[in-house]
Amino acid sequence: MKTSNYSVLMPAGKNYILYNCRTDVMVQVDNRLAELYQKNETDLERIADAAPDFFEYLSSNGFIVEDDFDEQKQIIDYWKEDDENSEELLVTINPTMNCNLRCWYCYEEHGKKSKMEQSTVDAVISYLQKQVAGGRFKSIALTFFGGEPLLYFSQVVQPILEQIKKIGTDKVNWTLHFTTNATLLTKEIAEYLQPWYPSFQITIDGNEFIHNIVKTMGKNKPGTYRMTIGHIRMLLQMRMKVAIRFNYTAKTLERFIDVLTDLKDFSDEEREYCNVAFFRVWQDKKSDDEKSLEEKLDFLESAFRSAGFHVIGQTTRLVGRCYADRDNSIVINYDGMVYKCTAREFNQKNCEGRLIEDGNIEWNSRYEQRRQVRYCNETCRSCILLALCHGGCSQNKLESPEVGCLMGYSEEDKMDYIRQRIKDIYVEQTKRVEARKRKDQS
Ligand code: SF4
Ligand code: SF4
Repeated sequence: MKTSNYSVLMPAGKNYILYNCRTDVMVQVDNRLAELYQKNETDLERIADAAPDFFEYLSSNGFIVEDDFDEQKQIIDYWKEDDENSEELLVTINPTMNCNLRCWYCYEEHGKKSKMEQSTVDAVISYLQKQVAGGRFKSIALTFFGGEPLLYFSQVVQPILEQIKKIGTDKVNWTLHFTTNATLLTKEIAEYLQPWYPSFQITIDGNEFIHNIVKTMGKNKPGTYRMTIGHIRMLLQMRMKVAIRFNYTAKTLERFIDVLTDLKDFSDEEREYCNVAFFRVWQDKKSDDEKSLEEKLDFLESAFRSAGFHVIGQTTRLVGRCYADRDNSIVINYDGMVYKCTAREFNQKNCEGRLIEDGNIEWNSRYEQRRQVRYCNETCRSCILLALCHGGCSQNKLESPEVGCLMGYSEEDKMDYIRQRIKDIYVEQTKRVEARKRKDQS
């Protein structure tokens, strides 16, 4: 047997943490075991003799592997299996590129005439019908994105959902998700959607003052902050899941503490149905004082956690691979053009295909290009972070040079990433233990 190429031993207070980047398992070890491991990485029999239980733990959690086990291949084979997963289809639909708001960081063009025509709605239905009839998929996850998808709720979203009811909601498991600013949400819409058990992603851009500037409905119009919080609460009270996305910049981050004050009277049940995650607005340039920003972020994450909110840690959301890498994931724009990624402009350059009337898709060469790059360049393949970082998503790979670290990380940055990952796992584990304790006590 041999030690894994993906293990890291790090001091942690009086003990050590042993973490494996491939299996994402971490364990705290005392000085004796740390020393035993360190001194005998090439003579594993000594570990087996001196501490058989420890040896057993190491081999069953990927810290020690068989001599002929190819870890890199296992990581990539696992991705391939996931990418080719033929049981779940992910379909993102943009009813429009238009929006009732104009966030400064939004990369979309907000074309006023961009509304999905009936002919495209029909093609979407034909596409979905074909997928269900093909019998390949156990589940179809529909996401309404945009622009603001609720802008054309009754003209686009509702007709699609009504047709799905006719296709048959018992043939596959349909799930429904909305990425929305929530300002157009009404009680009627929420009640209509409730039987679908939909989930929502709703963004808050800072405290009331900041959010009202970023998400303004125009001069002399009321602010959107209170309305958005109210709508989030309405969904939670109706037992629909909400992922609250906190979009921050270096300037706005610390004021999210006011948001916590505003969410404090959410009941335990309401908190159960939501999670929060901090995302830095991509246009916000890194400053010389990134360290203090990280500290503020850590402080806020733990403040929200202590208040009983489920916080998705910074590395946790990056561990899973991107939907754009998966074969069975498509984005249909309002005009019937097909994309793979929702994080770039919906334009000719990024377009990968076209939905035709009969519900088939004609792919173009960009689609094949994406498939070619998705399993990484040589630098990533031999990187300790391969399983965690994947070289980013296929969009990142399409836009990056073919050699070198696609994230621009130094070796020290990689160690910081691992430290952050360990911190996130620790928080998750602590939360699970506390939840178990609470359950046992009740
Ligand atoms: S709410 Fe969303 S779609 Fe609308 S402008 Fe802001 S970021 Fe863009
Ligand atoms: S992008 Fe950089 S950190 Fe990520 S896997 Fe590639 S080499 Fe490693």
